[in-house]
Parts: sequence; structure tokens; C-alpha cells
Amino acid sequence: MPKKSKIQTPDWILKGGKQPKEEKKGKTFKVKKCPKCGGDKVSVVIGEVGLWECKKCKWKGKTPSEEELDEEEFMEYLDKIGEEVA
Ligand SMILES: [Zn+2]
Repeated sequence: MPKKSKIQTPDWILKGGKQPKEEKKGKTFKVKKCPKCGGDKVSVVIGEVGLWECKKCKWKGKTPSEEELDEEEFMEYLDKIGEEVA
């Protein structure tokens, strides 16, 4: 007689084995990213309303890309930014 498992494999394992982010239910944070080089050293231009500048490739524009980070990723992001400021 073949053994039968009574435990059902969760759907997300069957669909590639990666747990979806929604399962975490953590906070998410939006950070600005440069649409040109993908860098995260994007900040507002002082004296200009709604204008953003990339410190890395000197891109300037009004519509930087946005990326959603979870809390852990956001802390790493802040660490990176903090190093630059200090
Ligand atoms: Zn850039």
C-alpha cells in the first residue's frame, strides 16, 4: 500500500517555492529611485519645486521611479543613505 501524505502542500510551494511577500504583513516604505541608472541617491533639488536629481548620474526630472521596500530592506536603505550623509 502506498503511503499517503495527509499534509497538503501550500499553494505557494507548488507555484515555485517562494513565499509571497503578502504573508509577512509588514510595513512597506516607498523610496525614490533613479529611472536612468537605478540608483537610490535621488533627492529633491533645493530651490526647485517637485524636481528630483540623481547624485550618481546627474539625472534630473519630476518623475523618479518608486520602489516599495519592506521594513528590513528599508533599514538597509537608511543605513546606506546614512553612510553617505555622515
Ligand atoms: Zn541615476
